[in-house]
Amino acid sequence: MTGNKTFTMIKPTAVAQGSVGKILDRILEEGYLILALKMVHLCQREAEAFYEVHKERPFFGSLTEYMSSGPIVAAILQKDNAVDDYRTLIGATNPGDAAEGTIRKLYGTDLGRNAVHGSDSRENAEIECSFFFSGMEEMSW
Ligand code: UDP
Ligand code: MG
Repeated sequence: MTGNKTFTMIKPTAVAQGSVGKILDRILEEGYLILALKMVHLCQREAEAFYEVHKERPFFGSLTEYMSSGPIVAAILQKDNAVDDYRTLIGATNPGDAAEGTIRKLYGTDLGRNAVHGSDSRENAEIECSFFFSGMEEMSW
């Protein structure tokens, strides 16, 4: 299997509402391999470390509070052109603006509770995969 890797999280509201199975099924249907997968309840400090790039933004406090409010599901995904294709699959940041059929349109409710995270570049994907997973946790199919 060639291709590159991206990192995703299923956010707390989508986990709480029981959408994990449906979202993972969609990811598999779209041709991604799941290389690593786990459910974690982040503390706020961990959420702040993950989203450090946004620390000067006005939504940093609400974002990190929300992301530590309940368990999330983290995964490493592999496919040709995974980073860009996954951003297309999840849709725009605000579910209200997301295209029909995208994961954020289907499972998101608002800008904060937008169902899933997806890496925005190969470089950030590497950083984010390493934040959650050790090399030992990652499958090579
Ligand atoms: N976010 C928010 N308020 C905003 C902008 C973003 O709560 O005004 C949240 C939103 O859930 C988003 C996350 O912060 O997914 C990270 O923002 P980014 O701009 O990186 O969007 P993404 O890459 O997730 O589409
Ligand atoms: Mg982003």
